[in-house]
Amino acid sequence: MPIKTSRSAFNGRYLATATLAVLMAACADTPIQKAHAESPVKTPAPSSSPSIPIAQPPEPVAQEQTFNQWKQQFRKEAITSGINEALFDRAFAEVVPDPGILRADSSQPEFTRPVWEYLDGALSSTRISRAQRLLGEHASTLTAIEQAYGVDRHILVAIWGLESNFGSNMGDNYVIRALATLAHQGRRPDFAHAQLLAALEILQHGDIAPVSMLGSWAGAMGQTQFIPTTYNSHAVDFDGDNKRDIWNSSADALGSAANYLKVSNWDSGQPWGAEVALVEDFDYALADISVRKTLAEWTALGVRSAQGGPLTFADDNQTASLLLPAGYRGPAFLVLNNFRSILRYNNSTSYALAIGLLAERMQGRGEIAASWPKGDTPLARSERLELQRRLKEVGYDPGGVDGIIGANTRQALRNFQIALGLPADGYPSKSLLEKLRTFQ
Ligand code: CA
Repeated sequence: MPIKTSRSAFNGRYLATATLAVLMAACADTPIQKAHAESPVKTPAPSSSPSIPIAQPPEPVAQEQTFNQWKQQFRKEAITSGINEALFDRAFAEVVPDPGILRADSSQPEFTRPVWEYLDGALSSTRISRAQRLLGEHASTLTAIEQAYGVDRHILVAIWGLESNFGSNMGDNYVIRALATLAHQGRRPDFAHAQLLAALEILQHGDIAPVSMLGSWAGAMGQTQFIPTTYNSHAVDFDGDNKRDIWNSSADALGSAANYLKVSNWDSGQPWGAEVALVEDFDYALADISVRKTLAEWTALGVRSAQGGPLTFADDNQTASLLLPAGYRGPAFLVLNNFRSILRYNNSTSYALAIGLLAERMQGRGEIAASWPKGDTPLARSERLELQRRLKEVGYDPGGVDGIIGANTRQALRNFQIALGLPADGYPSKSLLEKLRTFQ
């Protein structure tokens, strides 16, 4: 899974040295609007953007120390913090920087997949049938996990399926090497530094042997793709062998995911949300994860079930947010507290939507009634940068020109749409960019 992080500082440097014309020349097409904030479980953002890396951005953060100098300094610090010397040396034996990790860290994909293509992959018939088979094979474990944590088994199996393809794709990087490379020379050395110390603590605890501590290039580990700090705070030994083995024990992995969702305020017995239909003149400015209303309030505003009837949930007192993943021309979803718990696992609305829908597909539900606007290709990164720059030029502050469509950019887009009398969905469409190009 690709990793998204805040890149504003980096982007600032990039734009200072490269003209927009150069950026534009490299581009053309697509992407998707998604959350980019940091996720507590892993360095975020999977899926939505399994993208096509094109341009290689400039050098990562300049470092003054050689790797060996950095390692000696880090060794002292690790030992001071309680890591055993022999363990440190064993973990770091033959560790040298990995250029592939640095390339992955500095890659900023120009093209990302539209949400409907991402969902097609996430909800493939192969994945659904494998999930259904695994639900049967692990039924007794899942029953015990549901009893212990109150988290629905279908959601857990969906997370298992999207994080590591049910344990078959956990990443094959030695986590200590990957994190050491990033702590020495990555874009976010402080983050990698903390993760590396946590990874050494895991080894010292004896949960896994160094040689078996494998994960993604960014250090997300095992069947749940937990980063080391999340592992230390939330992984559990569910199969009772005194090791928290999220690599080799599916019971430990599923139990750990359930534990994480439970502490992320999972509401037992509640759904994640549902597709809805909206009245013709709906106020699309309300469709934002930050806007929360009760079911009664949404109903009064013209939100209906996808089939057109009244909305009902098991707990009608919950507040919900309305999401339009592809803008007002695409499907609409009302999302509840459990959707927010999934976002804490991985802060991407596309990911959380895929988890909710995959869990339903396993049970023969979860088809989306409305159509996606497939002719409306999402903006490429260079186009998002242009959109933000143009918004700023005409007086709608996007909160920074970084190619990331966050809350400030959505609000700026909405204000621009309102000024033009357009549906204020805050969605960065091509037609809106076209309008900005001609707007004075
Ligand atoms: Ca165990």
